[in-house]
Amino acid sequence: MPDHSGGASLIRQARAALARIEAAGQMRGLRQTTRVMASAAPLVTRDGRTLLSFSCNDYLGLATHPAVLAAATEAIARYGAGARASRFVTGEHPLLGALEARLAHAKGMAAATLFGTGYLANLGVITGLMGPGDTVLLDGLAHSCLFAGARASGARFRRFRHNDLEDLADGLRAARARGGAGHVLVATETVFSMDGDRAPLAAMRALCDAHDAWLLADDAHGLGVVAGAVTVPLAMGTLSKALASQGGYVCAAEPVVRLLRNRAASQIYSTALPPASAAAALAALEIALAEPERGARALANARLFADAVGLEPPQSQIVPVMLGDARAAMAAAERLAEEGFLAVAIRPPTVPEGTARLRLAFTAAHAEADVRRLANCVRAL
Ligand SMILES: *Cc1c(COP(=O)(O)O)cnc(C)c1O
Repeated sequence: MPDHSGGASLIRQARAALARIEAAGQMRGLRQTTRVMASAAPLVTRDGRTLLSFSCNDYLGLATHPAVLAAATEAIARYGAGARASRFVTGEHPLLGALEARLAHAKGMAAATLFGTGYLANLGVITGLMGPGDTVLLDGLAHSCLFAGARASGARFRRFRHNDLEDLADGLRAARARGGAGHVLVATETVFSMDGDRAPLAAMRALCDAHDAWLLADDAHGLGVVAGAVTVPLAMGTLSKALASQGGYVCAAEPVVRLLRNRAASQIYSTALPPASAAAALAALEIALAEPERGARALANARLFADAVGLEPPQSQIVPVMLGDARAAMAAAERLAEEGFLAVAIRPPTVPEGTARLRLAFTAAHAEADVRRLANCVRAL
């Protein structure tokens, strides 16, 4: 067996890199976790234990809602299991246009376009609109896929300090001072995925308008829970969290959406969303709009928890319990699992060094008594 093959050095490289990840306490592993379908509460089984999950993004409790399941099942029966091709070939079916129209309407925008996931949406929007000579300014805590899009676009990119309007203003002035015909895009999250705080969108929108920069707001964690009062030129989001399905979208003006359909490679060269995912998201969106009390319940649960453990009132349904050290966060998650809770530890590099945490996600499906029980356990950590 030749040991000088490319394959052998690849395996050596993998072993060496894994050893470094292990030494840093950052090894990721997959743990089989399945939803207990019979329960309304978000119960899951993992490693033979039944746990109440505070780590799922099904904020409105719609992933097991009978109307959502029925819509997905009916779509499979009518249109088949997969989409068969890109939308531009033979993958277009009526549910996709219907979902886009509904999303655009819900966000108060003219048009929308769908992607395979939220990750692909950010990748497609940024690479589709920006290129060499342009500038992308990103919030320092923005999601990995916004950075991936900025890097892949070939534009110059720079991060501004998290939610810091002064630093953003400096970045905008510097981008404009460099002159040229380059465009400027500013990307942030409406509700930050790991911290649960919110971007000062109205002020950011005003700053961006003043510098003719395009604001992209990633609403992955806002839709259906934290009402967005500010419209932005690029309103991106996912179908995979409150909408309990799979897929990504961006809402924008009609010509912008038409341009993206022609330029966003992650949409053009990728198979369309399966009909079941579109149908499930459409059904979930209708419920989210008709029953705003679901989002309110998720927020109330987060407030109840924060109050019980003595944290600041949360700005969203996401509440981080900061532990700092990655191993301390892992130990805390294990303690909570012994108490019957799934609260996954989030470590670097997902979050900055020294800010390992339990990231708790409160949902409409959690009962008050369970939130109080969790708070007691967290207090005892
Ligand atoms: C989850 C998430 C995404 C990616 O969405 P997917 O549909 O899961 O690919 C993008 N941005 C933010 C802020 C997210 O939290």
